[in-house]
Amino acid sequence: MIPQLRLDDPESARGLEDVAQYLKKARRVVFITGAGVSCNAGIPDFRSEDGLYNIVKRQYPEAVVKGKDLFDSILFRDPLTVQIFHTFMAGLRKSILDAHPTPTHHLIKRLREKKKLLRCYTQNIDGLEKQVGLSLGYTEPQSLEVVQLHGDIHLLKCPNCMIERDWTKEDEELLASGKAPICSECLHAENARAACGKRSRPVGLLRPNIVLYGEEHPYGDIIGKCLARDIKSAPDLLIVAGTSLKVVGIRHLVKDLAKAVRNKGGKVLFVNRTPVSGSMWKGTIDYHLECDTDAWVSDLKERIPLFFMNQSKIKVKQEKRLLDPQTPEKPPKKQTLANYYPVSPKIEPDLLDSSPQGFKVFQVNPQRAAPIDYDLMAKEILLSPSPTFSLDIK
Ligand SMILES: [Zn+2]
Repeated sequence: MIPQLRLDDPESARGLEDVAQYLKKARRVVFITGAGVSCNAGIPDFRSEDGLYNIVKRQYPEAVVKGKDLFDSILFRDPLTVQIFHTFMAGLRKSILDAHPTPTHHLIKRLREKKKLLRCYTQNIDGLEKQVGLSLGYTEPQSLEVVQLHGDIHLLKCPNCMIERDWTKEDEELLASGKAPICSECLHAENARAACGKRSRPVGLLRPNIVLYGEEHPYGDIIGKCLARDIKSAPDLLIVAGTSLKVVGIRHLVKDLAKAVRNKGGKVLFVNRTPVSGSMWKGTIDYHLECDTDAWVSDLKERIPLFFMNQSKIKVKQEKRLLDPQTPEKPPKKQTLANYYPVSPKIEPDLLDSSPQGFKVFQVNPQRAAPIDYDLMAKEILLSPSPTFSLDIK
């Protein structure tokens, strides 16, 4: 049994305090993030009336495509699925552009500022880490702060000449209509060949630079180097946040890093609303914090406030106390669930069934004192596609 900690459970207080101290004292932290970390970022619910699936459905009323197929390389076998993929990714990127980093993204940045962050590996393709100033891309391991395991939706790539570039306004419109931009590099090279009378070669079409199921990660060698370097650096804390650990690749990553951490007496924290299999993860995960990742960050801010303060703020606080030594330090805020979810309804969907059409069926139980989870489910599917999900577009 993996020890479970809940923010609203008085019996978890000791464990939560221990966890906060592990973070405070850690020197080399590895973070692994999944869709749960981005679900509070303002990316809208894709299943709502005007959600992404419905936009795609309206545009392609004749198509029957399973949601998971939009993240599988088999989609390139059918021109219609390719069109749907383009429209879907253009819509997804548009909603990501309006999103903002969450407190969890800021925690990762804080670890970097305190020179504790060894690396962040993310399953998310939204690039929100860049907005807090962390370095992305596939550069050399020593300068790469965030490894995007499933690629980056903000880049377009030519599968022919492998060039990458940012989206332009024209690309946005073209891809939203289902078409792909022609690679200007390939075209330029082709024109040059034609001028010399050489045999023609294929010209590539650009596609969003995300890694689909069935595809090799184009930067697998760099990711491998990052991992080897991190394991060698003897990390003393691994935080796995906002992922249900369903994807096989991420399981291996967690296991390899956890082994390195625990061999040196470090700790492995798993922060996610839903649990994982105890038999699979016992001996790998030290604590399961059963909560929203941002709610955990709020808890940390109460327990180790100085960790989140800049040096100048700490100095002002200390000077204030020196001037007026009678002023006691503010007592810590009482921990209640309302501190974390002042506006969310206290409901939690239960996964009941998968219909024959592939839709997952949720039941909302108002008696359950837990934060709403529906968005998380929807976005986890999108940002970190799970092979168990399918959606029919009819
Ligand atoms: Zn090209």
